[in-house]
Amino acid sequence: MNIAIVGSGYVGLVTGVCLAHIGHQVICCDNNEEKIKALRAGRIPIYEPGLEDLLVKYVKSGGITFSHSIRDASKKAEVIFIAVGTPSKKNGDADLTYIENVAREVALSMDSYKLLVEKSTVPAQTGDRIARTIRLNLPKKNKKGNAAVPEFDVASNPEFLREGSAVHDFMNPDRIVIGVESKRAERLLREIYKPLNATMVVTNLATAEMIKHASNSFLATKISFINSVAQICERVGADVEKVAEGMGYDKRIGRSFLNAGIGYGGSCFPKDVDAFVCLAEKSGYDFKILKSVREVNESQKAWFTRHIEDKLWIIKDKTIAVWGLAFKSNTDDMRSAASLTVIEALRGEGAHIQAYDPQAMANARKMIKGIRFCSDAYAAVKGADCLLLLTEWDEFKKADFVKTRDLMRQAVVFDGRNFLDSKALGELGFEYYGIGRGGNA
Ligand code: NAD
Repeated sequence: MNIAIVGSGYVGLVTGVCLAHIGHQVICCDNNEEKIKALRAGRIPIYEPGLEDLLVKYVKSGGITFSHSIRDASKKAEVIFIAVGTPSKKNGDADLTYIENVAREVALSMDSYKLLVEKSTVPAQTGDRIARTIRLNLPKKNKKGNAAVPEFDVASNPEFLREGSAVHDFMNPDRIVIGVESKRAERLLREIYKPLNATMVVTNLATAEMIKHASNSFLATKISFINSVAQICERVGADVEKVAEGMGYDKRIGRSFLNAGIGYGGSCFPKDVDAFVCLAEKSGYDFKILKSVREVNESQKAWFTRHIEDKLWIIKDKTIAVWGLAFKSNTDDMRSAASLTVIEALRGEGAHIQAYDPQAMANARKMIKGIRFCSDAYAAVKGADCLLLLTEWDEFKKADFVKTRDLMRQAVVFDGRNFLDSKALGELGFEYYGIGRGGNA
């Protein structure tokens, strides 16, 4: 099938490349010309394991092409996936400016049936807005001067991939959700995804949009729940890791998303929780649980820095090593990373920060000023008074901790992800502090 993807970021690019991989003819579009130039040359502007190899393969075979014109891309396709950003406004509501732009551009050049598919995360009822925008901007007359009203459908197909394992997640989905208002739209989407042989959940538009809201917010709730439990564990001498393990064997609960730490970050959870709270408010419902989830997440980062202050005693002029800047491992994405808040707080107290991340250094340099970026993990710990583990990269687990200890001025570790082997570090003479590990630290 001929498919256009508008927005070639983390989601759009993975979607485009994977749809080419399952046999479709894809044109990816972005209004960032530099990005399009790089993609045409087979270079991806993000770090996503496995993506570049597939991209190179399908650029060569012609299965995927690129354009910076939405009109050009949408003319060549029957189905148009919208994968542009939907950032937060100051009040937490989703900013849908890019979505409206795309809908208008597609409408202006529409000369045959099109199916517009929301891949971006958008508030419920956005589909209706897109349809209205298209109706208002359709060409009024065709070239012969006759009324020309091409048909179109709008559908929702929320994306659930995780950065860091996005290609795998796209190719092996737990389920594919499609929200449709016509049989034609359903048939097209079923055909597109047929090669994946996945469970399909078919709903109306608003329900599909709500599934995405509810899923991300539920995962954020699990994280804030276990972080609250961690706070109590710390106070009563229990180990939250064991608590999570004991809970996780219960199939009704499950072990995933029960990792205590410095809170969730990234481009999705903080913004999607905000948008869901706003949507609830607009619809007349006070979403108290989700407001608390957000508060707990913020307080967790503040608690972590207070904890460091407590143990280090004086922060001013201390050298603090940071391992990991990305919001999670296996990505270079720094959006709403917890590291930003923690580093800013400690810098504010006069600490000298030496940081290293295996993939996120380029993005971090654009977002963090006044710290030393180091070439590797060992350069970061040289002369440090403590080490903060902020992102759970495998590389850090495999580090030489004898060398690390000997390079540091004080062998003190604050493990913001409960990721390192606390026992082994203790045996090497480190003072180890995890999250909620009252019985173990
Ligand atoms: P991104 O910022 O990486 O990519 C968005 C792209 O859209 C950018 O390259 C930007 O240049 C382009 N763009 C913006 N306006 C455009 C326009 N008018 N025409 C053409 N291109 C335009 O964002 P992302 O992380 O890929 O997220 C996209 C959407 O998917 C968001 O709604 C997000 O919430 C959702 N989502 C993201 C993830 C994730 O893990 N990143 C997962 C699921 C859903």
